[in-house]
Amino acid sequence: MSSQYIKIKNHINGEWLDESNGQYEPLKNPSTGAVIGEVPLSSAETSRQAVAAAAEAFPEWSAMPLPKRMDFIFKMHRAMVDNHEMLAEAIAVDQAKHIAEARGEVGRVIEILQMACSIPALMQGETIQGIANNINGRVIKAPLGVFCGVAPFNFPALVFGWFIPFAIGTGNTFVYKPSTESPLFMQRMMDLIVETGLPKGVVNIVHGDRDTVEAWYDDENVTGICLVGSTPTAKSIAAGAGKHGKKTMLLGGAKNFLLAMEDAPMDLLIENVLMSGYGSAGQRCLAVSNIAVVEEIYDEFIERLLEASKNLTVGDAMDPDVFMGPVISAKAKERIHHYIDLGIEAGAKLALDGRNPDLPEANRDGYFVGPTVFTDVTPCMPIAKDEIFGPVLSIMKVGCINGGLRMIRNHEMGNGACIFTQNSYYTEKFINEADVGMIGVNVGVCAPHPYLPFGGIKGSLVGNNKVQGKDAIDFFTQNKVATIRTVDPKAGQPAAAKKDSSVRSCVAG
Ligand code: NAD
Repeated sequence: MSSQYIKIKNHINGEWLDESNGQYEPLKNPSTGAVIGEVPLSSAETSRQAVAAAAEAFPEWSAMPLPKRMDFIFKMHRAMVDNHEMLAEAIAVDQAKHIAEARGEVGRVIEILQMACSIPALMQGETIQGIANNINGRVIKAPLGVFCGVAPFNFPALVFGWFIPFAIGTGNTFVYKPSTESPLFMQRMMDLIVETGLPKGVVNIVHGDRDTVEAWYDDENVTGICLVGSTPTAKSIAAGAGKHGKKTMLLGGAKNFLLAMEDAPMDLLIENVLMSGYGSAGQRCLAVSNIAVVEEIYDEFIERLLEASKNLTVGDAMDPDVFMGPVISAKAKERIHHYIDLGIEAGAKLALDGRNPDLPEANRDGYFVGPTVFTDVTPCMPIAKDEIFGPVLSIMKVGCINGGLRMIRNHEMGNGACIFTQNSYYTEKFINEADVGMIGVNVGVCAPHPYLPFGGIKGSLVGNNKVQGKDAIDFFTQNKVATIRTVDPKAGQPAAAKKDSSVRSCVAG
């Protein structure tokens, strides 16, 4: 990837545009702290202009024959396969996700696009013949109009995959706002989308922050708003968009538990804790953050975890030889340091302090926090309650499975949780009783495959709509029900219809 200055642009109605209000924010490489470009903070007017373009494109796009529409989804899939490395590098530069994980993220979106290619099968409605004499019923899954989507910084490609292929494949048009902290993936992806020949206005990109989103709330052309982000942002959009009757799909924040039982396969457990707790520098909605360990293996687990964590290297996200890249910004680093202070103040033991990791010379101004481990944590401490979104693990001792389950149930968040055990009783009990949306058994990050829905419960989901799988088809379509009486033109009016009670019950209401 070249080191040219990157000027991020909006893409509206088929054109790349500079933001007319002239407001831009610096775009930084978190691995070095260097300014690498700028990203527009689009005005409400620009945001509504993008919606108007999507609204204009909707009638023709939604009326396009389904195989022709799907052709663009197939081409998008092909383009991602052919440009896998280029797209991964875009994520590794501005979001500074480790290059191996960035490749993994793009790979996951390719799988999501495969799933989206089955939209024609999933969009099929239903019919019921003979609900009365000569009367049939039919359910049609129809597109709705213009959807808008808002992405978090930590999964710029994945969230594109959750929203856009499903929204446009089902016949809607879209306006997408990436995070100002990781806009580069969508700039590159939009270039590839343009090359597919997608009609102008079907997908539009506006960059910006809160004001850009709030402009959609009372825009009558907007049917629905989707967000993946923190819970306060999800609640704010629910309030603003809900007031104007918009549909919403709002995935919020997380605080995920791992429960380690006495029969946990220890090597597998440690390997998964490292990947899940420190992967993406802990900036993952499915990152393990709280680890409840039964007392039989508590000491052994801590010893093994500390030994493994101390040996992990931290450095530039583009360096394949380091284990962990930086966090997203100086502000995020400060917030994580603040939580480390709170953990110490609350009486937890800081068994491994990641505040001053060893760094290569070129990365001294980057935003790094090394692996950090607290032991002797209790559930009421801020480090166990709040989402830290950094590579900080809080280890708690429990007496048995019920102690771990109680902690999970009492936590306000419910995105994911996993158990490490070889015992089928523990496994089934955990699946039944862990109060979260996504459950893992002997897997650290329990991200469901794209064929299945993805989303939490409790404070991790605002409303009830999840992404991907059949849930995505349901969200981006509306069910229309037709009741159809067939009349034989040669036989004339069905004179007996008024006396036919089965017909009367069918048309009543
Ligand atoms: P964030 O909530 O700060 O921002 C998310 C997006 O919302 C950004 O594009 C931002 O510009 C916009 N935004 C911020 N405030 C807004 C407001 N008041 N009104 C409208 N839009 C607003 O989140 P972030 O820091 O970018 O991402 C991290 C968060 O996202 C974490 O809480 C993480 O758990 C969550 N997340 C959740 C999932 C999931 O699947 N549940 C996946 C990834 C990230």
